[in-house]
Amino acid sequence: MGTETQGSSAMHAPGAILLISCYELGHRPIGLTRPLRALEEAGFAPDVIDIAVESLDVEKVERARFIGISVPMHTALRLGVHLLHGIRHINPDVSICMYGLYATLNADYLLSRGVDFCISGEASTELMALAQSLVEGEQSETQEADFPIAELPPLEMYAQFEDEDEVRTVGYTETTHGCKHLCTHCPIPPVYDGRFFAVQRDIVLAEIHEQVVEGATHITFGDPDFLNGPTHGLRILRAMHETFPSLTFDFTTKVEHILKNRNHFPELAQLGCRFVISAVEALDEQVLTILEKHHTRADVEEAIDIVHGTGIALRPTWVPFTPWTTLDDYLEILQFIDARRLVYHVDPVQYAVRLLIPPGSYLLNRLEVKALSLKLDEASFSYTWAHPDPRMDELYKTVNDLVENDARTGVDALETFYHIWTLAANMQGHPPPKQRRDVHLPAPRLTEAWFC
Ligand code: SF4
Repeated sequence: MGTETQGSSAMHAPGAILLISCYELGHRPIGLTRPLRALEEAGFAPDVIDIAVESLDVEKVERARFIGISVPMHTALRLGVHLLHGIRHINPDVSICMYGLYATLNADYLLSRGVDFCISGEASTELMALAQSLVEGEQSETQEADFPIAELPPLEMYAQFEDEDEVRTVGYTETTHGCKHLCTHCPIPPVYDGRFFAVQRDIVLAEIHEQVVEGATHITFGDPDFLNGPTHGLRILRAMHETFPSLTFDFTTKVEHILKNRNHFPELAQLGCRFVISAVEALDEQVLTILEKHHTRADVEEAIDIVHGTGIALRPTWVPFTPWTTLDDYLEILQFIDARRLVYHVDPVQYAVRLLIPPGSYLLNRLEVKALSLKLDEASFSYTWAHPDPRMDELYKTVNDLVENDARTGVDALETFYHIWTLAANMQGHPPPKQRRDVHLPAPRLTEAWFC
């Protein structure tokens, strides 16, 4: 298809701007879709690659004058840095910008490794400003181009919703950016510092509409915390439900918000909510205090009752390996999951999550962390720490390998759970756990486990 870009710069030529996403938890990356739309509206003709589901297209890289690499999370950053060397090899002179939460946190390292720009926060706006500034000084010219407009990979290539025999194609959107909370282990506060921004309702509804047309029957609202602005979120959900009554959805919110917004949960269920992800992270009071989660074990129990009472599933996330989490604490988390019949509500990768302390982390302000005198390992984008009880570091390695291996070979989550519990119990000299296989009922989930 031939297109003509009228009176524009070389940067406006099709494919002159290339946006690359590395990994966004198995859903279609909003780190591509929103900047793509903003740049197109501004008259640019960017191309896109999502290396989570596609290979790196050498021709696209060769054609680009400016490449933006989206790094919203730690895994994406590691992949992005790996990609950097390949891109420079193919196109040594291209300007490279890393954008997303982990870009500015690691800017010193990235800029010293050949990245030209690092931006975080409102990436669409910032990327557009950057592209405009690169246009200035370029000679105005008219270009003929023979490239198709950017095409996003189909939704079927991404994670699906599953609940027993029910399978749904998943679309993705966010109604807000940032977060008003300051949990110390989270990468969002160092960038947003307790602020959050609502995305215009029409934009979110248009994104949902587009993805439904493409076949989405379930929407993941990936806001850091959907209930930071419950009125805004509910208005969007009501409008969505009115147009697409059979569409289901999931969202993420903190325990505190479940308690505060308990009255909304019956309506959320009626609007099609199937599960809610909540960052429980720990049960021990000291660990919860250091992470500044502002909830207690009793709050977690209550949140489960509220959510499950409406027929929605609660899927808790955990950070079970921290310098302060003892082997008894680890065992307590497993006992809790068993007692609350949550085995199928927890992705096995959650049993192997180890506290990550990136540069700029709010954890570095805590006395408990200062006392550890940690060293930054720039190349792994985090401070390194060892557990005072060497058994915990050993357990982490064993569980991590086990979880990876079981995921690869398709072992049932229940088997993995009791295997891990037996290992941890052995380590503490406890008898193996009594297995209650029948009490754990299947729960709705996405087919991609959470890796951050
Ligand atoms: S963990 Fe959740 S509630 Fe806490 S700061 Fe991060 S996004 Fe906000």
